[in-house]
Amino acid sequence: MARATDGTSMTENVKKGIVITVAAAAVAVGGYVVYTNVAGGGIPANVRQVMCSETGALFPEEMQPGLGEYPHKNPKTGKNTLYPIEWCFNGECGKKGGTPVILNTQVKQKEPSYCPKCGYVVRFHNVRTDAGE
Ligand SMILES: [Zn+2]
Repeated sequence: MARATDGTSMTENVKKGIVITVAAAAVAVGGYVVYTNVAGGGIPANVRQVMCSETGALFPEEMQPGLGEYPHKNPKTGKNTLYPIEWCFNGECGKKGGTPVILNTQVKQKEPSYCPKCGYVVRFHNVRTDAGE
């Protein structure tokens, strides 16, 4: 039985193709991870999340001049219940990607504010506990 003379080179070309594809995929995934870390959950950097104090629903809000003081209007309920949030990254909250917390100071109440899930004290510009406090 005659052997195809270019059999070996064909296989090598296929292997090279697979390696290139895998490398491209790795770069794409790496780039996505970096992007989401910078923007915070894949939302543009000029958009922050605000939370409804009544329903707990999160809304993206574009940061722009003229927004006025909080609370802002919830587009779903029509009530002024949207406040900026801090994220609790303590223990279980951190493992689940953080728990949004409206600080007491935003609703004109005394600090400290506590995470409703884990009871951890949440401060303004709360830092991730894994980053060292
Ligand atoms: Zn928490």
